[in-house]
Amino acid sequence: MTIFQKILDGKIPADMVWEDEKAVAFRDIEPKAPVHVLVIPRKPYRNIGEGATEDPELMGHLLWVCSQIAEQEGIAESGYRVITNKGDEGGQSVDHLHFHILGGRQLGWTPS
Ligand code: AMP
Repeated sequence: MTIFQKILDGKIPADMVWEDEKAVAFRDIEPKAPVHVLVIPRKPYRNIGEGATEDPELMGHLLWVCSQIAEQEGIAESGYRVITNKGDEGGQSVDHLHFHILGGRQLGWTPS
């Protein structure tokens, strides 16, 4: 069981910023920017490949949630980044699909 499934099941706490019938979002425990929120589906797709293949409509919903959270967090105007890491070389460390929302400062490019 992944750490994100434990959060979904209420077994470990998280700083929740969004909950609906399909998705939840919470603050990253090791924030890389002043705003660093993770948006995850309740269904345990392991990564973007699995999620987009099996449930493309859900991916649209997750991105909509990202944009709503950016508004909620006050970074929609200043700008922000949405990232999903997939697999070893993509830097994925938790095998439950998640979108990072990063903002609140000037972000660098590109990832090293
Ligand atoms: P990734 O490396 O793309 O798989 O992202 C996983 C993210 O989950 C990392 O940014 C971690 O800091 C974050 N993370 C791990 N455990 C927790 C937790 N218990 N609560 C919140 N964020 C977490």
